[in-house]
Amino acid sequence: MSFEFVKKLPAPEQVKADYPVSPELAAVKEQRDREIRDIFEGRSDRFLLIIGPCSADNEEAVVDYTVRLAGAAEKVKDKILVIPRVYTNKPRTTGKGYKGMLHQPDPEKKPDLLAGLIAIRKMHIDVIRETGLTPADEMLYPENHRFMDDVLSYVAVGARSVEDQLHRMVASGVDIPVGMKNPTSGDFSVMLNSIVAAQSPQTFSYRSWQVHTDGNPLTHAVLRGAVNKHGNNIPNYHYEDLELLADKYASSGLANPAVIIDANHSNSGKKYLEQIRITKEVLHSRRHSEPIRKLVKGMMIESYIEPGAQSVGEGVYGKSITDPCLGWKQSEKLILEMADLL
Ligand code: PEP
Ligand code: MN
Repeated sequence: MSFEFVKKLPAPEQVKADYPVSPELAAVKEQRDREIRDIFEGRSDRFLLIIGPCSADNEEAVVDYTVRLAGAAEKVKDKILVIPRVYTNKPRTTGKGYKGMLHQPDPEKKPDLLAGLIAIRKMHIDVIRETGLTPADEMLYPENHRFMDDVLSYVAVGARSVEDQLHRMVASGVDIPVGMKNPTSGDFSVMLNSIVAAQSPQTFSYRSWQVHTDGNPLTHAVLRGAVNKHGNNIPNYHYEDLELLADKYASSGLANPAVIIDANHSNSGKKYLEQIRITKEVLHSRRHSEPIRKLVKGMMIESYIEPGAQSVGEGVYGKSITDPCLGWKQSEKLILEMADLL
């Protein structure tokens, strides 16, 4: 074995005890989780908007961003429920590069997983305290979900993880909505099969225990576009894609049919400004078709303070060091426009 066991990490209970959520914040999460559940279960018509930087790389900028976001969220709250994207673990296509705050609390320093676990827990808690908005994160490492399960209101399983059995099984025991992304190949059946698995009861081994889950009826689809064998992007946010997914859902027997459209990644080809047009097109498609209106329950948008992206080390405050994002001004305008189009 060439593993070097560098440092034993504490159990989730320990980190939770050291960095607790106050009863006030726990009540905020309970209320938000109920409102979000009402959307997925069809009792509320509000539209979900999961929005924030590709990676939450710096607590100060992330809290600054989410405070601005909370101001916009308040203005549109009758129509839109905003969930800040506070993404702390990043899947990398080649396994190289910045892997998120979990690995590197300081993107310019060496990985430190213990400091990372503490930093991300603290950041999620600070975001809730400063904004009253409970965040979304990616569930990249299913064994880590229990470090965050009392602070998150939404998790996504990424395009590179959605075929993985452990991700599906852990999703089946999570009590918040889990968005299953289409795989990078674009195959809808992989995504729908992962929803079947996560909506079903499962027995498996998790953190040295045999565990049993009841299935998570809030597991749903996320369309993020695909890549063909030549490496070209194939968008899947168009009317026909949504129609196809609505048909497949209708014959699936799955609970709570729902899709969130991720406007960036292979849908925009990472041309981040296209997210504005893509969002408006999706809202247009919803107005044209009742089945699509019912199915499309929200958008996911990558947005930060400064538009675009930079390399690690350039040091521009509030500018993405992973995928390019809309800037705050563009984002705020889009959020207000969305409310008018809904
Ligand atoms: C992301 O949301 O930043 C991301 C990496 O998504 P995907 O898994 O769709 O590539
Ligand atoms: Mn991204």
